[in-house]
Amino acid sequence: MAAYIVLLGPPGSGKGTQAKLLTDEVGIPQVSTGDMFRAMKTQDTPLARKVQQIMAEGKLVPDDVTIEIVKERLAQSDCSKGALLDGFPRTVPQAEALDKLLEESFHSQVTIVPLLSITVEEAVRRISGRRGCPQCGALYHVEFNPPREMGKCDHDGAKLVQRDDDRPEVVRERYQVYLDNTAPLINYYRDRGLLVELDAVQPIEVITAELADTIRQRTKE
Ligand code: AMP
Repeated sequence: MAAYIVLLGPPGSGKGTQAKLLTDEVGIPQVSTGDMFRAMKTQDTPLARKVQQIMAEGKLVPDDVTIEIVKERLAQSDCSKGALLDGFPRTVPQAEALDKLLEESFHSQVTIVPLLSITVEEAVRRISGRRGCPQCGALYHVEFNPPREMGKCDHDGAKLVQRDDDRPEVVRERYQVYLDNTAPLINYYRDRGLLVELDAVQPIEVITAELADTIRQRTKE
C-alpha cells in the first residue's frame, strides 16, 4: 500500500532536510509545494508573478492553486508508492482536499503525520544560516551542516544561495502564518490518530533515524 507522509512543523523545523534524507531511506519521493512554487520563478505568467509576490511576503498561495499542483504531482508515476509531503497541507481546507484526493484517486489515506516543533527564535536562528544549491537542490547550513568548501555545493560545485524569503522579518511573518493557518492541523491529525510528535532540536541524523523507524512501523501495520 502507498504511504503518504505529511511532514508538519513551522518554517525552519527541518521538514525539507528530513524529506530529502528520508526519500532514500523509505523509497518515496519528496513533494514540496514550496519547491514547486519556487520553480515557477522562471515562468513569466500572471499566476507565476502573483505566486512570487505572495512568497516574497511570506504569505500563503491560495488553496485552489496549491491543491491543483499537488493533484497533478501525486498523479505522476514516481508517486505510485506515495510521497513525503513537505509544506503541504498548510491549511485545514488543504488537509480536507488531500483526504478527498487520496480517497477518490488512490483509494488511500494519510499514513502518518510527524510533527517537528521549534520556537520562533530558533526558526530565525536556523533559517538565517540556511543555504541551498540552485542546481541540485541540496540544502546546507553555515553552522549545523556546512558544505566542505564554504559557499559551494558538495555535489556540483555550484554557488550556494539564500532564499529571498529567508530574511528574518519574512521568517517572523511565515511563523505567524504557520500559527494562524497551519497549527490547527495539529488537532486535525491528532483527532484522526495520525500525529507523531518529535523533538526537532536534536541532531539531524537522530531525527531521520527516528522518523524512518516510525514510518516503517506504521507502513507495516
Ligand atoms: P516552504 O518552502 O515550504 O517554506 O514554502 C515557501 C513559500 O511557498 C511559503 O511561504 C508560501 O508562500 C508558499 N507555499 C508553500 N507551500 C504552500 C502551501 N501548502 N499553501 C500555500 N502556500 C504555500
